[in-house]
Amino acid sequence: MDTEYIRSHIRTIPDFPETGIQFKDITPLLLDAKANELTLSALHTAFHTLSVDKVVGLESRGFLFGPSLAASFQAGFVPARKKGKLPHKTIQKEYGLEYGKDILEMHTDAINPGDNVIIHDDLLATGGTAKAATELVLELGGQVVGYSFIIELSFLLGKNQLLKDIPIRSIIQY
Ligand code: AMP
Repeated sequence: MDTEYIRSHIRTIPDFPETGIQFKDITPLLLDAKANELTLSALHTAFHTLSVDKVVGLESRGFLFGPSLAASFQAGFVPARKKGKLPHKTIQKEYGLEYGKDILEMHTDAINPGDNVIIHDDLLATGGTAKAATELVLELGGQVVGYSFIIELSFLLGKNQLLKDIPIRSIIQY
């Protein structure tokens, strides 16, 4: 099955980048042409009935499939980046990490009022990053129509941080 093929190309690295974290490494998936193709296809299929104007990809692994996913919807791609990386006028949102805080930024001209937006990342963990991205999109007048992940760590309950009644799709769950 396609999902099992994708799953078999994700490896778990214990204690990376710090003790206690089971890091889900998608580089074997990226190495394999068939796994790449199946992943993009599954990400697209999850939302194929929607009209999408923008895909917002979260730094940094949301930049791997984000632009191709956007192209599959004939939509634009918007990078949501860590503080200080985007050169033009930005809005920003602080969000909590396991230890400490970080800041996510988006260009103010990246979303037009009324845009239908999918938020995409490789992995949903606690949901803090996707929540910050949601707030940025809403502040710019866009509407979030879907959340798209390759992997969801279900036991961390990240879904609870995201907008209610908006579809949240992941290909693989742990
Ligand atoms: P969160 O804001 O907690 O949902 O974290 C999501 C971000 O952290 C994503 O950009 C992931 O790439 C990264 N991340 C968190 N936990 C892991 C993990 N166990 N393996 C790989 N990436 C992770």
